[in-house]
Amino acid sequence: MSQLREPSDSHPIETPVGSGADAGMTALGPLPIAVDVVVIGGGIIGISTAYALAKAGVSVCVFEKGRLAGEQSSRNWGWVRTLTRDVAEVPLAIRANALWADIQSRADVGFRRTGLLYLQENDADAAAHAKWIAAARDHGLDATLLTRDAAVRHLPPSSRAWSGAMYSASDGVAEPQRATHGIAGLAQDLGAKIYEHCAVRGIESAAGRVTGVITERGVVRAQAVVIAGGAWSRLFCGNLGADFPQLKVRGSVLRTAPFEAPLHAAVNGKDFTCRKRADGGYTVSQFGASMADVVPDSFRLMHHFGRAWLANREFVRLRFGKRFFEELRMPRRFAVDRETPFEQCRVLDPAPSARGVSQAWARLTETFPVFGQARIAQSWAGYIDVTPDGLPVMSAVPQHAGLFLASGFSGHGFGIGPAAGELMANLVQGNALAVDAAPFRFGRFARVRSEKA
Ligand SMILES: Cc1cc2nc3c(=O)[nH]c(=O)nc-3n(C[C@H](O)[C@H](O)[C@H](O)COP(=O)(O)OP(=O)(O)OC[C@H]3O[C@@H](n4cnc5c(N)ncnc54)[C@H](O)[C@@H]3O)c2cc1C
Repeated sequence: MSQLREPSDSHPIETPVGSGADAGMTALGPLPIAVDVVVIGGGIIGISTAYALAKAGVSVCVFEKGRLAGEQSSRNWGWVRTLTRDVAEVPLAIRANALWADIQSRADVGFRRTGLLYLQENDADAAAHAKWIAAARDHGLDATLLTRDAAVRHLPPSSRAWSGAMYSASDGVAEPQRATHGIAGLAQDLGAKIYEHCAVRGIESAAGRVTGVITERGVVRAQAVVIAGGAWSRLFCGNLGADFPQLKVRGSVLRTAPFEAPLHAAVNGKDFTCRKRADGGYTVSQFGASMADVVPDSFRLMHHFGRAWLANREFVRLRFGKRFFEELRMPRRFAVDRETPFEQCRVLDPAPSARGVSQAWARLTETFPVFGQARIAQSWAGYIDVTPDGLPVMSAVPQHAGLFLASGFSGHGFGIGPAAGELMANLVQGNALAVDAAPFRFGRFARVRSEKA
């Protein structure tokens, strides 16, 4: 699999993953003494939370240990979808689609309603899609089942006999390498402060209530703290004595150089996914390109994740390698007056699985032969943070008044990011919520523990 090659034509190319071309976001100068809310983590969730808080006139400061969107939020496929969501997430996904349109009107984050197709090969696929549509119908989605003829009108000539597709015209994509930065700029315009290369080591509290955070550059007082640390949230929470069951799955992706093909909708072809990028290329992957590195937490959390892994073993392969020893060496409890694991790893940058990306590429080019003319420009990977039930936690953290967690988005957090940020801002302010947040509460995992005890 080729690594990044120089583009050979004059099309604009999106910022390649890992290039660090996000200079200029960091707030310069000393840290503030006090703000209303501190957000830990400069991914799409932390930045969307900061944007929603800043819109409400709340003073907010984001600390990012590495680069803005350096981890999952710049490495994902860029799908913004309602289709196939857990029904609990559907109201958020609908709200997010509206928020993306509003953000796009203010900053170019590459949001387009391209339409999105889940292709079907047989009656069983069609029945599964019909079942999902029936379950989600009450939310007023535009999801529909297309006949074979209607489905293939969205596709290039194909070697496979599709029987139809599930389709949403209002779903689409945004550009992961622009989106978090675009939203961050809007938040900064409203007064939010964003500090890159500044890890939060821990929290300060008094009488059981959060009073601020301890960063590597000093203490900042705050009335509330939101942990939006992506794959690091379990470690951060664990050091506070809060057990957040979260594991990581490595997803591998490739992009092509700019290339003209009659494919504008985002497509899930079961054994490949493909969507047009704003830079003229395509982002390609497959669900089967995911791999779970076996780590010490895999054993510690077996009682939470065993059932989920069995249900998804077709898509997620287990791999034992050096990541086991890296995580074994990482302390689970650490002092906050010296360097912490958050400073020792500024950006999680796993290697892509050559097998995963080459399989996705092979399936795509076999299915749509026109892609045989495309050139692979780059491949990369990202660690997806997952919870046992595949739903995020967006909730207060029990026993720590003023502390909130927004994490565990389980591969769905980019698309719903803006709505998740809005939900978190309302939670922090104690406002009425427009969606039912009960499925996202932190405490739901305690039941599994006590059942096992
Ligand atoms: C390959 C892949 C494909 C995906 N495809 C899609 C898709 O098509 N659609 C979709 O909706 N979702 C997708 N996802 C999932 C989506 O990218 C994530 O759910 C989302 O980006 C999570 O955002 P986040 O802000 O929670 O985490 P992240 O983007 O990982 O951000 C967390 C940030 O917190 C920082 N941090 C952690 N601890 C600290 C600390 N102590 N101090 C300071 N900073 C800290 C980290 O450095 C990191 O930058 C995909 C993910 C991957 C990897």
